Amino acid sequence: MKASDKLSASEVRRVNRNRVYMYLYEQETPKTKRDIEQSLEISMPTVTQNLKELLEQGLISYVGTEESTGGRKARQIAVDPAARFAVGIELSPKHIRYVAVDLRAREIAFTEVEQQFQDNALYYKYLAQELERFLDAYDLKRSQLLGIGITVPGIVDKDQSVVTVSPVLAVRKLNIRQITERIPYPCFVQNDASAGGVAEGWMHYMQDNMAYLYLGKGVGGALLLEGKPYMGKNGRSAEFGHTCVHPGGALCHCGKRGCLEAYCSTARLTDDLGKSTEEFFQGLQDGEDELIRVWNRYLDYLALGIYNIRMNFDCDVMLGGRISPFLADYLPDLRMRLQKLNAFENNAAYLHIGACGSKANCIGVALHFIKQFIEQV
Ligand SMILES: [Zn+2]
Repeated sequence: MKASDKLSASEVRRVNRNRVYMYLYEQETPKTKRDIEQSLEISMPTVTQNLKELLEQGLISYVGTEESTGGRKARQIAVDPAARFAVGIELSPKHIRYVAVDLRAREIAFTEVEQQFQDNALYYKYLAQELERFLDAYDLKRSQLLGIGITVPGIVDKDQSVVTVSPVLAVRKLNIRQITERIPYPCFVQNDASAGGVAEGWMHYMQDNMAYLYLGKGVGGALLLEGKPYMGKNGRSAEFGHTCVHPGGALCHCGKRGCLEAYCSTARLTDDLGKSTEEFFQGLQDGEDELIRVWNRYLDYLALGIYNIRMNFDCDVMLGGRISPFLADYLPDLRMRLQKLNAFENNAAYLHIGACGSKANCIGVALHFIKQFIEQV
C-alpha cells in the first residue's frame, strides 16, 4: 500500500461514523450498541464514540430499551428521520408542486399551486415566494433544509446550466440560473422522469436494472443500471416518449409524427376530452362507450411502448406518473396485451406500477440531497 492510499485518522473516524449511521439507517427496527458492535465488527469504544457524535448532531436518538429477562436492559437506538429534510419542486405547464421529504424520503408536506408556466422573471419570483410560504405553512425549519430539487419536463444538460428543450413547456434553451437565482438554498435541477425513476428505484430497493416509463402530459423515462441512473451522452437517455410507435402518425409536441407521447400523453385522456384524470377513470368504470374506446387505443399504444422497452433492455419496467395510481385495476389487461406482442415470453410479470404515485418526480429530485447527506454523515 502506498502512503497516499492510507486514510488519515480523521477519515477513518468519518468512515466508521458513516458505517454506524448507515447500519442504523438500513434497519427496520431499533438496534443496541451490542448489535452494532457485532454486525460491523468494530470495537465497543469506537461504537460508543461514534454514537456520541451522531447523538450530538441530532441524527440518532435513544428510542427505548430492549426486552430482557434479567440484568440491565440495553438501550435501543435508531436514526431520527426528522433531523433533516429536502424539498422537491415539480414545474409543469399549469401547476407547481412542492413536496418535503424526511431522511427516509417520506413525505412530510405537500402543496400544489395553480400557475401557468412562463419563462420570465415574474414566474421565477413566484416560484421562490411560494417555496418560502410552503416552508412557513408547514413550520419546516430552514436550518434543517438540505436543498431544493426542481424537476422540469425537458432535457437538462450535464453541467446544470441549461434546459436544452422542453416540448411540454414549449421552450428551448432555458437558463437554469434564472430558475434558481431567487432561491437562497442549494439547488439541483433534473429531468422530471429521470427523478421519478430514481424515486421508484429507491422505494423498491432496486439494485438491479430497471426502466421507468413516466406517463404525464409528457411521456418520458429513466434507465437505472444497477440502481444508478444512466444519463446517456447528452443527458437524453430513456426519452421513451419520442420513440416512434406509428410512422407518419399523430403530431407530437416535439414536432415529429407518431411518437409514443402523441398517443400516451395523459392529455389524450383529460385535455382532449375536457375531463380531469379522476373524471376519466370514473367514467370508464361507469362504462361510457367513448371512454372505453379512447382507453383501448391508449392501452394498445402503451403496450407497444412498453414492449419496445422490454425488447431493447430486457429488464423490469416500472410505470409512473399521475395516472399510475389508477393503473392497478388495468394491470392484468396491460400484461395480456404485452404477452400477445412478445414472441419470447409467455407472461409480462416484468411490468410493475410505481409506489410513489403522482409525487415520484418531486420525491426523486429531493432524494438527490438526501442521498448526498446520508452518504457523507
Ligand atoms: Zn415526439
